[in-house]
Amino acid sequence: MGKTTGDWKKAEITLDSVPWYGVYTGGMQETQAEQMTIGTLAKAAGVGVETVRFYQRKGILEKPARTAGFRKYTDADVRTIKFVKRVQELGFTLKDAQELLDLELCTQKTRPLLSEVCSAKIEEIEQKIADLQRMVGMLRRFSQTCGSEASHDGQCSLLECFENNWECCETTQRRKK
Ligand SMILES: [Zn+2]
Ligand SMILES: [Zn+2]
Repeated sequence: MGKTTGDWKKAEITLDSVPWYGVYTGGMQETQAEQMTIGTLAKAAGVGVETVRFYQRKGILEKPARTAGFRKYTDADVRTIKFVKRVQELGFTLKDAQELLDLELCTQKTRPLLSEVCSAKIEEIEQKIADLQRMVGMLRRFSQTCGSEASHDGQCSLLECFENNWECCETTQRRKK
């Protein structure tokens, strides 16, 4: 990735130091190859073009003004997208990502806030894990009662099984004919 970043930097310098509209007499075609288009930006950041547009709509990413008909993106945009992606991977929302972007710095001053934000997210995720574990527990019980060979010598209504919390199909007590 480092290589790509460097290449873009180089492209930037070339473009900024040369009045490209004058140099590239051919016009759009060649200059376009030197620019980071939205497609190139998306590729460099590892997202789809739609994601870039989505981030723009959400105000996460600025839409650069058109230069000679097309928008020019920079390495800073790549970094922003990657940052937002990683923030989202940690379970944060886009709004959180925006706030972290606005916060910008990791300093003595922002540390308490960052710690608070992380703790809240950890708590939320731990709650989700607990909920998921409860689900697994209930699925196991459903499987070990209604789904168990040993419990299947009779017949009950599944509605009933669920209403009874699967007690009626508990293998130890179920011997109805
Ligand atoms: Zn059952
Ligand atoms: Zn039952």
